Amino acid sequence: MTTMQEDRTTEDLTARKTRIAIFGAGITGLSAAKRLRELAPDVEVAVWDRADRVGGVIGTRIVDGFLCETSVDNFITTLPWGLDLCKELGFQDELASTNSRFRRTFVVRRGRLYALPDGFMTMAPTKFYPMLTTPLLSPLGKLRCGLELLLPRRKSDEEESLAAFAKRRLGKEAFERIIEPLVGGIYGGDAAKLSLQATLPRFAEMEEKSRSLIWAMTKTQRAARRVKREEESGARYSFFITLRCGMQALPERLAERVGRERVRLGRAVKTVARENDGRWRATDEQGVSERFDAILFATDSGAAANALRDAAPEVARLYGQTDHTGVAIVHLAYRNEQIGKPVKGMGFVVPTSEGDGVIAGSFSSYKYPTRAPDGTTLLRVFVGGARAPEMVTLEHSELVARVEGEVRKLLDVKGAPLIVDVARFPNAMPQYYLGRLEWRERLRAALAAAPTLALAGNALDGVGLPACVKSGYDAVDKVLNDLGIAVPKHD
Ligand SMILES: Cc1cc2nc3c(=O)[nH]c(=O)nc-3n(C[C@H](O)[C@H](O)[C@H](O)COP(=O)(O)OP(=O)(O)OC[C@H]3O[C@@H](n4cnc5c(N)ncnc54)[C@H](O)[C@@H]3O)c2cc1C
Repeated sequence: MTTMQEDRTTEDLTARKTRIAIFGAGITGLSAAKRLRELAPDVEVAVWDRADRVGGVIGTRIVDGFLCETSVDNFITTLPWGLDLCKELGFQDELASTNSRFRRTFVVRRGRLYALPDGFMTMAPTKFYPMLTTPLLSPLGKLRCGLELLLPRRKSDEEESLAAFAKRRLGKEAFERIIEPLVGGIYGGDAAKLSLQATLPRFAEMEEKSRSLIWAMTKTQRAARRVKREEESGARYSFFITLRCGMQALPERLAERVGRERVRLGRAVKTVARENDGRWRATDEQGVSERFDAILFATDSGAAANALRDAAPEVARLYGQTDHTGVAIVHLAYRNEQIGKPVKGMGFVVPTSEGDGVIAGSFSSYKYPTRAPDGTTLLRVFVGGARAPEMVTLEHSELVARVEGEVRKLLDVKGAPLIVDVARFPNAMPQYYLGRLEWRERLRAALAAAPTLALAGNALDGVGLPACVKSGYDAVDKVLNDLGIAVPKHD
Protein backbone atom coordinates (compact mmCIF):
# COMPACT_ATOMS: atom_id res chain seq x y z
CA MET A 1 0.00 0.00 0.00
CA THR A 2 1.32 3.47 -0.81
CA THR A 3 1.00 5.91 2.04
CA MET A 4 0.47 9.61 1.61
CA GLN A 5 3.89 10.23 3.10
CA GLU A 6 5.54 8.04 0.51
CA ASP A 7 3.65 9.89 -2.25
CA ARG A 8 5.12 13.11 -0.95
CA THR A 9 8.68 11.84 -0.71
CA THR A 10 11.20 14.30 -2.18
CA GLU A 11 13.91 11.77 -2.83
CA ASP A 12 15.06 10.96 -6.30
CA LEU A 13 15.05 7.19 -5.98
CA THR A 14 17.07 6.67 -9.12
CA ALA A 15 20.18 8.34 -7.66
CA ARG A 16 22.27 6.06 -5.49
CA LYS A 17 24.75 8.50 -4.11
CA THR A 18 25.43 8.00 -0.41
CA ARG A 19 23.25 10.47 1.46
CA ILE A 20 23.73 11.66 5.04
CA ALA A 21 21.36 13.85 7.01
CA ILE A 22 22.45 16.17 9.78
CA PHE A 23 19.65 17.46 11.99
CA GLY A 24 20.44 20.80 13.61
CA ALA A 25 22.34 23.75 12.11
CA GLY A 26 23.87 25.08 15.33
CA ILE A 27 27.63 25.15 15.71
CA THR A 28 27.68 21.36 16.21
CA GLY A 29 25.65 20.41 13.15
CA LEU A 30 27.41 22.87 10.86
CA SER A 31 30.87 21.78 12.05
CA ALA A 32 29.84 18.21 11.33
CA ALA A 33 28.59 19.18 7.87
CA LYS A 34 31.84 20.97 7.07
CA ARG A 35 33.93 17.95 8.09
CA LEU A 36 31.69 15.67 6.09
CA ARG A 37 32.09 17.83 2.97
CA GLU A 38 35.87 17.77 3.42
CA LEU A 39 36.28 14.06 4.15
CA ALA A 40 33.72 12.70 1.76
CA PRO A 41 32.99 15.26 -0.99
CA ASP A 42 31.07 12.65 -3.00
CA VAL A 43 28.57 12.09 -0.22
CA GLU A 44 25.37 14.13 -0.41
CA VAL A 45 24.76 16.12 2.75
CA ALA A 46 21.44 17.56 3.87
CA VAL A 47 21.27 19.73 6.99
CA TRP A 48 17.78 20.34 8.42
CA ASP A 49 17.01 22.91 11.07
CA ARG A 50 13.72 23.78 12.69
CA ALA A 51 14.62 27.49 12.90
CA ASP A 52 14.66 30.06 10.11
CA ARG A 53 18.33 30.93 10.71
CA VAL A 54 21.56 29.03 11.32
CA GLY A 55 23.54 29.10 14.58
CA GLY A 56 21.14 27.59 17.12
CA VAL A 57 21.65 29.42 20.41
CA ILE A 58 24.47 31.56 18.96
CA GLY A 59 23.26 35.02 18.04
CA THR A 60 24.65 38.54 17.72
CA ARG A 61 22.39 41.58 17.90
CA ILE A 62 23.55 45.12 17.17
CA VAL A 63 21.35 47.40 19.26
CA ASP A 64 21.95 51.16 18.79
CA GLY A 65 25.65 50.55 18.14
CA PHE A 66 26.12 48.04 21.00
CA LEU A 67 27.15 44.50 20.07
CA CYS A 68 25.18 42.04 22.21
CA GLU A 69 26.08 38.35 22.16
CA THR A 70 22.92 36.50 23.09
CA SER A 71 24.66 33.24 24.08
CA VAL A 72 28.28 32.46 23.20
CA ASP A 73 30.20 35.53 24.31
CA ASN A 74 33.64 34.08 23.73
CA PHE A 75 35.28 30.66 23.87
CA ILE A 76 38.38 29.06 25.36
CA THR A 77 41.59 28.59 23.42
CA THR A 78 43.03 25.77 25.52
CA LEU A 79 40.88 23.34 23.54
CA PRO A 80 41.94 23.79 19.91
CA TRP A 81 38.76 23.12 17.92
CA GLY A 82 37.07 26.54 18.18
CA LEU A 83 40.18 28.56 17.39
CA ASP A 84 41.23 26.20 14.58
CA LEU A 85 37.78 26.39 13.03
CA CYS A 86 37.87 30.19 13.07
CA LYS A 87 41.26 30.15 11.37
CA GLU A 88 40.15 27.63 8.77
CA LEU A 89 37.24 29.89 7.93
CA GLY A 90 39.51 32.91 7.46
CA PHE A 91 38.61 34.81 10.64
CA GLN A 92 42.26 35.52 11.60
CA ASP A 93 41.76 39.29 11.45
CA GLU A 94 38.55 39.14 13.46
CA LEU A 95 39.94 37.20 16.43
CA ALA A 96 40.03 39.39 19.52
CA SER A 97 41.77 38.55 22.79
CA THR A 98 40.44 39.88 26.07
CA ASN A 99 41.72 43.30 27.07
CA SER A 100 44.72 42.58 29.32
CA ARG A 101 44.06 45.74 31.41
CA PHE A 102 40.90 44.18 32.77
CA ARG A 103 41.77 40.51 33.37
CA ARG A 104 40.27 40.39 36.85
CA THR A 105 37.09 38.84 38.18
CA PHE A 106 35.06 40.11 41.10
CA VAL A 107 32.95 38.25 43.62
CA VAL A 108 29.91 39.68 45.38
CA ARG A 109 30.02 39.61 49.18
CA ARG A 110 27.46 41.41 51.34
CA GLY A 111 26.33 43.49 48.36
CA ARG A 112 29.83 44.67 47.39
CA LEU A 113 32.30 43.60 44.74
CA TYR A 114 35.66 42.21 45.85
CA ALA A 115 38.46 41.10 43.52
CA LEU A 116 38.94 37.37 43.30
CA PRO A 117 42.34 36.74 44.96
CA ASP A 118 44.99 36.95 42.26
CA GLY A 119 45.99 33.43 41.21
CA PHE A 120 42.71 31.77 42.25
CA MET A 121 41.99 29.31 39.42
CA THR A 122 38.40 27.94 39.45
CA MET A 123 38.92 25.65 42.43
CA ALA A 124 42.16 26.51 44.12
CA PRO A 125 44.51 29.36 44.99
CA THR A 126 47.97 29.43 43.47
CA LYS A 127 49.35 32.49 45.26
CA PHE A 128 49.84 32.81 48.98
CA TYR A 129 49.71 36.56 49.68
CA PRO A 130 46.46 37.43 47.82
CA MET A 131 44.72 34.61 49.72
CA LEU A 132 46.05 35.85 53.01
CA THR A 133 44.74 39.37 52.44
CA THR A 134 41.42 38.76 50.66
CA PRO A 135 38.36 40.10 52.50
CA LEU A 136 36.27 37.36 50.85
CA LEU A 137 37.20 34.78 53.50
CA SER A 138 37.38 34.86 57.30
CA PRO A 139 40.69 33.98 59.01
CA LEU A 140 39.31 30.53 59.79
CA GLY A 141 38.13 30.09 56.20
CA LYS A 142 41.64 30.97 54.98
CA LEU A 143 43.23 28.55 57.41
CA ARG A 144 40.89 25.77 56.32
CA CYS A 145 41.69 26.50 52.69
CA GLY A 146 45.43 26.35 53.40
CA LEU A 147 45.01 22.97 55.12
CA GLU A 148 44.34 21.56 51.68
CA LEU A 149 48.11 21.35 51.24
CA LEU A 150 48.22 18.72 53.99
CA LEU A 151 45.06 16.73 53.33
CA PRO A 152 45.46 13.13 52.17
CA ARG A 153 44.02 11.81 48.91
CA ARG A 154 40.48 10.51 48.82
CA LYS A 155 40.43 6.70 48.94
CA SER A 156 37.33 6.08 46.85
CA ASP A 157 37.30 6.58 43.08
CA GLU A 158 33.51 6.98 42.91
CA GLU A 159 32.03 9.97 41.11
CA GLU A 160 31.74 12.94 43.47
CA SER A 161 29.74 16.16 43.25
CA LEU A 162 31.53 19.46 42.63
CA ALA A 163 30.24 20.73 45.97
CA ALA A 164 31.36 17.69 47.97
CA PHE A 165 34.81 17.75 46.38
CA ALA A 166 35.38 21.48 46.89
CA LYS A 167 34.14 21.42 50.50
CA ARG A 168 36.22 18.36 51.31
CA ARG A 169 39.42 19.84 49.89
CA LEU A 170 39.10 23.59 50.52
CA GLY A 171 36.38 23.98 53.13
CA LYS A 172 32.74 25.08 53.20
CA GLU A 173 33.47 28.78 53.32
CA ALA A 174 35.76 28.85 50.27
CA PHE A 175 33.20 26.74 48.44
CA GLU A 176 30.21 28.94 49.25
CA ARG A 177 31.89 32.31 48.85
CA ILE A 178 34.23 31.69 45.89
CA ILE A 179 34.11 28.30 44.19
CA GLU A 180 30.36 27.80 43.91
CA PRO A 181 29.77 31.15 42.16
CA LEU A 182 32.74 30.57 39.84
CA VAL A 183 31.61 27.13 38.66
CA GLY A 184 27.91 28.00 38.88
CA GLY A 185 28.51 30.64 36.23
CA ILE A 186 29.88 28.06 33.82
CA TYR A 187 27.13 25.46 34.07
CA GLY A 188 24.13 27.39 35.38
CA GLY A 189 23.77 24.32 37.57
CA ASP A 190 23.55 23.04 41.12
CA ALA A 191 27.05 22.20 42.34
CA ALA A 192 25.65 19.65 44.80
CA LYS A 193 24.36 17.62 41.83
CA LEU A 194 27.00 18.31 39.16
CA SER A 195 29.57 15.55 38.72
CA LEU A 196 33.17 16.70 39.22
CA GLN A 197 34.45 13.90 36.99
CA ALA A 198 32.09 14.88 34.14
CA THR A 199 32.52 18.66 34.37
CA LEU A 200 36.02 19.42 35.69
CA PRO A 201 37.82 16.06 35.57
CA ARG A 202 41.26 17.65 35.70
CA PHE A 203 40.74 18.47 39.38
CA ALA A 204 39.97 14.85 40.24
CA GLU A 205 43.11 13.86 38.30
CA MET A 206 45.16 16.44 40.18
CA GLU A 207 44.12 14.98 43.52
CA GLU A 208 44.87 11.49 42.31
CA LYS A 209 48.30 12.36 40.91
CA SER A 210 49.56 15.13 43.17
CA ARG A 211 47.31 14.81 46.26
CA SER A 212 47.04 18.59 46.84
CA LEU A 213 45.24 20.83 44.31
CA ILE A 214 47.04 23.93 45.53
CA TRP A 215 50.39 22.25 45.03
CA ALA A 216 49.48 20.83 41.61
CA MET A 217 47.99 24.09 40.33
CA THR A 218 50.92 26.18 41.54
CA LYS A 219 53.30 23.88 39.66
CA THR A 220 51.13 24.03 36.53
CA GLN A 221 50.94 27.82 36.70
CA ARG A 222 54.70 28.16 37.02
CA ALA A 223 55.25 25.86 34.06
CA ALA A 224 52.67 27.81 32.02
CA ARG A 225 54.44 31.11 32.82
CA ARG A 226 57.74 29.59 31.70
CA VAL A 227 56.25 28.38 28.40
CA LYS A 228 54.65 31.80 27.88
CA ARG A 229 58.02 33.52 28.33
CA GLU A 230 59.65 31.11 25.90
CA GLU A 231 56.89 31.68 23.34
CA GLU A 232 56.91 35.47 23.54
CA SER A 233 57.22 35.64 19.74
CA GLY A 234 54.43 34.49 17.39
CA ALA A 235 50.66 34.96 17.54
CA ARG A 236 49.26 34.19 20.95
CA TYR A 237 45.72 34.45 22.15
CA SER A 238 44.28 34.98 25.58
CA PHE A 239 42.49 32.19 27.44
CA PHE A 240 39.18 33.42 25.98
CA ILE A 241 38.74 34.90 22.52
CA THR A 242 35.86 36.18 20.44
CA LEU A 243 35.09 37.41 16.95
CA ARG A 244 35.15 41.19 16.74
CA CYS A 245 32.34 41.14 14.18
CA GLY A 246 30.15 39.01 16.47
CA MET A 247 29.90 35.26 17.04
CA GLN A 248 26.94 34.85 14.68
CA ALA A 249 29.40 35.28 11.79
CA LEU A 250 30.88 31.86 12.63
CA PRO A 251 27.80 29.71 11.86
CA GLU A 252 26.97 32.01 8.92
CA ARG A 253 30.36 31.44 7.32
CA LEU A 254 30.23 27.75 8.15
CA ALA A 255 26.91 27.52 6.32
CA GLU A 256 28.51 29.25 3.31
CA ARG A 257 31.37 26.75 3.41
CA VAL A 258 28.97 23.80 3.59
CA GLY A 259 26.84 25.31 0.80
CA ARG A 260 23.62 27.17 1.57
CA GLU A 261 21.74 24.90 -0.80
CA ARG A 262 22.47 21.98 1.54
CA VAL A 263 21.05 23.73 4.61
CA ARG A 264 17.26 23.51 4.75
CA LEU A 265 15.89 25.98 7.24
CA GLY A 266 12.40 25.74 8.69
CA ARG A 267 12.60 21.97 8.42
CA ALA A 268 12.26 20.00 11.67
CA VAL A 269 12.79 16.26 11.86
CA LYS A 270 9.88 14.57 13.59
CA THR A 271 10.59 10.85 13.31
CA VAL A 272 13.17 8.53 11.84
CA ALA A 273 12.67 4.88 10.93
CA ARG A 274 15.13 2.17 9.95
CA GLU A 275 14.08 0.51 6.68
CA ASN A 276 14.58 -3.13 5.74
CA ASP A 277 17.73 -2.36 3.73
CA GLY A 278 19.29 -0.67 6.79
CA ARG A 279 18.82 2.86 5.41
CA TRP A 280 16.89 5.55 7.25
CA ARG A 281 13.66 7.32 6.43
CA ALA A 282 13.45 10.72 8.10
CA THR A 283 10.11 12.49 8.18
CA ASP A 284 9.75 16.17 8.91
CA GLU A 285 6.95 17.93 10.75
CA GLN A 286 5.09 18.54 7.48
CA GLY A 287 5.02 14.81 6.81
CA VAL A 288 7.60 14.96 4.01
CA SER A 289 10.13 12.13 4.14
CA GLU A 290 13.54 11.44 2.63
CA ARG A 291 15.85 8.43 2.68
CA PHE A 292 19.41 8.55 3.97
CA ASP A 293 22.29 6.12 4.41
CA ALA A 294 23.24 7.64 7.75
CA ILE A 295 21.80 10.22 10.14
CA LEU A 296 23.47 12.50 12.65
CA PHE A 297 21.50 14.32 15.33
CA ALA A 298 22.95 17.70 16.34
CA THR A 299 19.72 19.00 17.81
CA ASP A 300 19.13 19.35 21.53
CA SER A 301 18.96 15.94 23.20
CA GLY A 302 15.18 16.15 23.77
CA ALA A 303 14.38 16.59 20.06
CA ALA A 304 16.73 13.75 19.14
CA ALA A 305 15.23 11.42 21.77
CA ASN A 306 11.69 12.12 20.52
CA ALA A 307 12.57 11.43 16.90
CA LEU A 308 14.48 8.25 17.75
CA ARG A 309 11.92 6.76 20.15
CA ASP A 310 10.79 3.93 17.85
CA ALA A 311 13.88 3.44 15.69
CA ALA A 312 16.51 3.30 18.46
CA PRO A 313 14.63 3.01 21.77
CA GLU A 314 17.66 2.48 24.02
CA VAL A 315 19.58 5.43 22.54
CA ALA A 316 16.43 7.57 22.80
CA ARG A 317 15.74 6.50 26.39
CA LEU A 318 19.25 7.32 27.56
CA TYR A 319 19.66 10.54 25.57
CA GLY A 320 16.28 11.73 26.77
CA GLN A 321 17.43 11.44 30.38
CA THR A 322 19.58 14.58 30.13
CA ASP A 323 18.48 17.29 32.58
CA HIS A 324 18.61 20.91 31.47
CA THR A 325 18.37 24.29 33.11
CA GLY A 326 17.30 27.54 31.50
CA VAL A 327 19.10 30.87 31.51
CA ALA A 328 18.51 34.39 30.27
CA ILE A 329 21.05 36.96 29.15
CA VAL A 330 20.22 40.60 29.82
CA HIS A 331 22.35 43.31 28.23
CA LEU A 332 22.29 46.80 29.73
CA ALA A 333 24.30 49.78 28.52
CA TYR A 334 25.11 53.02 30.35
CA ARG A 335 27.05 56.20 29.75
CA ASN A 336 30.26 55.89 31.78
CA GLU A 337 29.31 58.77 34.05
CA GLN A 338 26.13 56.92 35.10
CA ILE A 339 28.26 54.29 36.86
CA GLY A 340 29.19 55.56 40.30
CA LYS A 341 31.45 52.61 41.24
CA PRO A 342 33.08 51.30 38.08
CA VAL A 343 35.35 48.28 38.57
CA LYS A 344 38.33 47.40 36.43
CA GLY A 345 37.50 43.81 35.64
CA MET A 346 36.06 41.31 33.22
CA GLY A 347 33.03 40.73 35.33
CA PHE A 348 31.62 39.40 38.57
CA VAL A 349 30.11 36.21 39.95
CA VAL A 350 27.38 36.02 42.55
CA PRO A 351 27.19 33.41 45.34
CA THR A 352 23.76 31.81 45.79
CA SER A 353 23.37 33.49 49.18
CA GLU A 354 23.82 36.95 47.61
CA GLY A 355 21.97 36.96 44.32
CA ASP A 356 18.44 37.83 43.41
CA GLY A 357 18.53 35.31 40.57
CA VAL A 358 21.66 36.83 39.01
CA ILE A 359 24.39 34.25 38.43
CA ALA A 360 27.10 36.46 36.98
CA GLY A 361 27.76 39.60 34.99
CA SER A 362 30.44 40.58 32.55
CA PHE A 363 31.71 43.99 31.58
CA SER A 364 31.36 43.15 27.95
CA SER A 365 32.87 46.39 26.67
CA TYR A 366 35.86 46.22 29.06
CA LYS A 367 36.62 42.71 27.83
CA TYR A 368 36.23 43.65 24.19
CA PRO A 369 36.24 47.45 23.77
CA THR A 370 34.84 47.47 20.21
CA ARG A 371 31.47 46.24 21.50
CA ALA A 372 30.31 49.64 22.73
CA PRO A 373 30.59 53.25 21.48
CA ASP A 374 33.21 55.44 23.20
CA GLY A 375 32.14 56.80 26.57
CA THR A 376 29.71 53.97 27.27
CA THR A 377 29.78 50.65 29.12
CA LEU A 378 28.00 47.47 28.05
CA LEU A 379 27.05 44.95 30.73
CA ARG A 380 25.96 41.38 30.14
CA VAL A 381 24.09 39.73 32.98
CA PHE A 382 23.49 36.00 33.24
CA VAL A 383 20.38 35.00 35.23
CA GLY A 384 18.36 31.90 36.12
CA GLY A 385 19.98 28.48 36.07
CA ALA A 386 19.25 25.78 38.63
CA ARG A 387 19.40 28.43 41.32
CA ALA A 388 16.54 30.63 40.07
CA PRO A 389 14.69 28.88 37.22
CA GLU A 390 11.71 31.24 37.57
CA MET A 391 13.83 34.13 36.22
CA VAL A 392 13.78 32.72 32.69
CA THR A 393 10.02 32.95 32.38
CA LEU A 394 9.51 36.24 34.25
CA GLU A 395 7.57 38.88 32.40
CA HIS A 396 9.95 41.20 30.48
CA SER A 397 9.50 44.31 32.63
CA GLU A 398 9.87 42.37 35.89
CA LEU A 399 12.99 40.56 34.69
CA VAL A 400 14.61 43.79 33.56
CA ALA A 401 13.62 45.58 36.78
CA ARG A 402 15.22 42.84 38.91
CA VAL A 403 18.43 42.80 36.91
CA GLU A 404 18.63 46.61 36.79
CA GLY A 405 18.06 46.70 40.55
CA GLU A 406 20.97 44.32 41.20
CA VAL A 407 23.29 46.22 38.87
CA ARG A 408 22.28 49.57 40.38
CA LYS A 409 23.20 48.33 43.88
CA LEU A 410 26.50 46.78 42.88
CA LEU A 411 27.82 49.56 40.66
CA ASP A 412 25.93 52.53 42.06
CA VAL A 413 24.28 53.20 38.71
CA LYS A 414 22.16 56.30 38.22
CA GLY A 415 19.40 56.70 35.67
CA ALA A 416 17.94 54.43 33.02
CA PRO A 417 20.02 52.21 30.71
CA LEU A 418 20.65 53.36 27.14
CA ILE A 419 19.64 49.95 25.82
CA VAL A 420 18.11 46.77 27.20
CA ASP A 421 18.31 43.48 25.35
CA VAL A 422 16.94 40.20 26.68
CA ALA A 423 17.54 36.72 25.28
CA ARG A 424 15.96 33.69 26.92
CA PHE A 425 17.09 30.09 26.66
CA PRO A 426 14.69 27.78 28.45
CA ASN A 427 16.20 24.29 28.87
CA ALA A 428 19.34 25.15 26.94
CA MET A 429 22.03 24.15 29.43
CA PRO A 430 22.54 20.38 29.79
CA GLN A 431 23.49 19.38 33.31
CA TYR A 432 26.17 16.77 33.87
CA TYR A 433 24.76 15.43 37.10
CA LEU A 434 26.17 12.59 39.20
CA GLY A 435 25.94 9.30 37.35
CA ARG A 436 26.98 10.99 34.09
CA LEU A 437 30.08 8.83 33.53
CA GLU A 438 28.16 5.59 33.66
CA TRP A 439 25.41 7.16 31.55
CA ARG A 440 27.98 8.09 28.89
CA GLU A 441 29.33 4.56 28.76
CA ARG A 442 25.84 3.12 28.38
CA LEU A 443 24.96 5.63 25.66
CA ARG A 444 28.21 4.85 23.81
CA ALA A 445 27.42 1.15 23.94
CA ALA A 446 23.87 1.77 22.66
CA LEU A 447 25.23 3.89 19.81
CA ALA A 448 27.85 1.29 18.91
CA ALA A 449 24.96 -1.12 18.43
CA ALA A 450 23.21 1.38 16.13
CA PRO A 451 25.29 1.63 12.96
CA THR A 452 24.98 4.75 10.77
CA LEU A 453 23.39 6.69 13.64
CA ALA A 454 25.36 9.35 15.52
CA LEU A 455 24.65 11.96 18.17
CA ALA A 456 26.53 15.20 18.70
CA GLY A 457 26.20 18.29 20.82
CA ASN A 458 26.57 19.82 24.23
CA ALA A 459 24.84 17.03 26.17
CA LEU A 460 27.75 14.67 25.55
CA ASP A 461 31.35 15.68 26.25
CA GLY A 462 31.37 19.39 27.07
CA VAL A 463 29.11 22.42 26.82
CA GLY A 464 31.52 25.02 25.42
CA LEU A 465 31.80 25.87 21.74
CA PRO A 466 35.14 24.06 21.10
CA ALA A 467 33.77 20.83 22.65
CA CYS A 468 30.65 21.10 20.46
CA VAL A 469 32.79 21.46 17.32
CA LYS A 470 34.77 18.36 18.28
CA SER A 471 31.61 16.47 19.06
CA GLY A 472 30.35 17.23 15.53
CA TYR A 473 33.63 15.97 14.05
CA ASP A 474 33.55 12.77 16.13
CA ALA A 475 29.97 12.05 15.07
CA VAL A 476 30.94 12.36 11.39
CA ASP A 477 33.83 9.96 11.93
CA LYS A 478 31.44 7.44 13.48
CA VAL A 479 28.97 7.43 10.61
CA LEU A 480 31.69 7.38 7.94
CA ASN A 481 33.36 4.46 9.70
CA ASP A 482 30.01 2.69 9.90
CA LEU A 483 29.57 3.24 6.17
CA GLY A 484 33.04 1.85 5.49
CA ILE A 485 34.46 5.20 4.33
CA ALA A 486 38.03 5.66 5.62
CA VAL A 487 38.61 8.76 7.74
CA PRO A 488 41.90 10.30 8.87
CA LYS A 489 42.31 10.76 12.63
CA HIS A 490 41.88 14.24 14.12
CA ASP A 491 43.36 15.41 17.47
C1 LIG B 1 23.07 31.58 27.31
C2 LIG B 1 24.23 30.74 26.89
C3 LIG B 1 25.51 31.26 26.96
C4 LIG B 1 26.59 30.50 26.53
N1 LIG B 1 27.84 31.05 26.54
C5 LIG B 1 28.88 30.35 26.05
C6 LIG B 1 30.16 30.96 25.93
O1 LIG B 1 30.35 32.14 26.23
N2 LIG B 1 31.18 30.20 25.46
C7 LIG B 1 31.01 28.91 25.05
O2 LIG B 1 31.98 28.28 24.61
N3 LIG B 1 29.79 28.31 25.13
C8 LIG B 1 28.73 29.01 25.62
N4 LIG B 1 27.50 28.41 25.68
C9 LIG B 1 27.36 27.01 25.26
C10 LIG B 1 27.27 26.90 23.75
O3 LIG B 1 26.65 28.02 23.23
C11 LIG B 1 26.42 25.72 23.32
O4 LIG B 1 26.77 24.55 24.00
C12 LIG B 1 26.54 25.46 21.81
O5 LIG B 1 26.40 26.64 21.07
C13 LIG B 1 25.49 24.44 21.43
O6 LIG B 1 25.52 24.27 20.04
P1 LIG B 1 24.68 23.11 19.34
O7 LIG B 1 24.82 23.29 17.90
O8 LIG B 1 25.07 21.80 19.92
O9 LIG B 1 23.19 23.34 19.85
P2 LIG B 1 22.16 24.49 19.48
O10 LIG B 1 22.84 25.76 19.31
O11 LIG B 1 21.08 24.38 20.49
O12 LIG B 1 21.61 24.04 18.05
C14 LIG B 1 20.68 22.99 17.90
C15 LIG B 1 19.89 23.26 16.65
O13 LIG B 1 18.96 22.20 16.47
C16 LIG B 1 17.78 22.75 15.94
N5 LIG B 1 16.67 21.82 16.18
C17 LIG B 1 16.02 21.55 17.33
N6 LIG B 1 15.07 20.63 17.13
C18 LIG B 1 15.15 20.28 15.82
C19 LIG B 1 14.45 19.35 15.00
N7 LIG B 1 13.48 18.57 15.49
N8 LIG B 1 14.78 19.24 13.70
C20 LIG B 1 15.77 20.02 13.16
N9 LIG B 1 16.45 20.92 13.89
C21 LIG B 1 16.15 21.04 15.20
C22 LIG B 1 17.62 24.08 16.65
O14 LIG B 1 16.78 24.95 15.90
C23 LIG B 1 19.07 24.55 16.71
O15 LIG B 1 19.40 25.37 15.62
C24 LIG B 1 26.39 29.18 26.08
C25 LIG B 1 25.09 28.64 26.01
C26 LIG B 1 24.03 29.42 26.40
C27 LIG B 1 22.64 28.86 26.29
